[in-house]
Amino acid sequence: MYANYLNPETFKETERILKSDDVSDAMKKISEKVLMGTTLSRGEFVYLLGLKDSPDRKALFRLANAVRHDNVGETVFVKGIIEFSNYCKRDCAYCGIGASCKIKRYRMRPDEIVKVAIDSAKHGIDTIILQSGEDPFYTTDVLIDIIKKIRNHTRRPVSLSIGERTPKELELFKKAGASKYLLKQETVNSRIFKSVHGSDYEVRISLLKALVKLGYIAGGGDIIGLPGQTLGDIADDIIFMRDIGVKMAGIGPFIPTQNTPLENYPSGSADVTLNAYACTRLAIPTIFLPTTTALGTLDPGLQYKGFEAGCNVIMVNFTPDKYRQVYRIYDNKRKVEFYETVQELLKRGKKLSFSVMKSLKEEELV
Ligand code: SAH
Repeated sequence: MYANYLNPETFKETERILKSDDVSDAMKKISEKVLMGTTLSRGEFVYLLGLKDSPDRKALFRLANAVRHDNVGETVFVKGIIEFSNYCKRDCAYCGIGASCKIKRYRMRPDEIVKVAIDSAKHGIDTIILQSGEDPFYTTDVLIDIIKKIRNHTRRPVSLSIGERTPKELELFKKAGASKYLLKQETVNSRIFKSVHGSDYEVRISLLKALVKLGYIAGGGDIIGLPGQTLGDIADDIIFMRDIGVKMAGIGPFIPTQNTPLENYPSGSADVTLNAYACTRLAIPTIFLPTTTALGTLDPGLQYKGFEAGCNVIMVNFTPDKYRQVYRIYDNKRKVEFYETVQELLKRGKKLSFSVMKSLKEEELV
């Protein structure tokens, strides 16, 4: 059977699930569908997203892990993020750097951004992610210059997470050398989106589609636990990302943040977040799927649990300390440090992206 040959771990896991007395018939059917490459339905995703600790949930995680193994292998990709500006023209209700938040603002100078990027590349990280609020201070030309310089000096892939720009700009950034772009849809439920983000729902969705079309490794993703959001909405997010062809997904729990309109709402569920990782892996087998800082903010151990639910990426932070303290998109944001993370991953027996291993001296790893 082809499926066995191409997906040996998924095959083994499915066999195990089918033989288990304590796994439900629904879960058995789902694992067979996954093995055969049949798309799962919205109802099936809703079922999986709602699983609490149970034999079915264990089966879900093991299945997601097997799909990850068969499609993208065992490597954990360590990416470095530089948060270069906390100015933002938007006012998202969940976010701590929205325009009307009274916080200390900073902008890194272009040469400073390039310098930090070069330094992070020396650590051997896999991709340099430039993230900021939506800050028009960085014009198209300034950004193009930064991208080109980073590419020239480091040869590392450059990923942007700078919010909405025009399709023309996205094209120019690509030409300048950016190959990845994260523009989370946040929620595909337009009513919720409008209440927490603004009137730009159609624009944001069409830009995400444009990124896919332009040949970017395009990243979508959602926030788990926005007010009013149902498991059906989260299932819709996963199906949406599958259908438009994203290749990365940033999925994290909502974290309430002081002095924002949502400060008194509860955090998103860690369990649902982990279930969403597993479902996303089943839906898009080759996806780059980070276990997010937001999940690690609920509990650091949880971030590593993401690797048991189908994740294969972690982002470490290279923002200079003086800025990092004020880049508070949410409260108590966990500091994900390079060395600490690498050591923790190695302790857990993970294989790291080749460049990390190569650039670190043996003694630095122990
Ligand atoms: N300005 C860029 C980058 C946003 S910050 C953009 O609009 O794309 C990166 C991500 O942090 C956001 O996409 C959002 O999903 C997440 N985020 C912001 N505030 C959050 C909060 N309070 N809880 C959880 N995630 C949050």
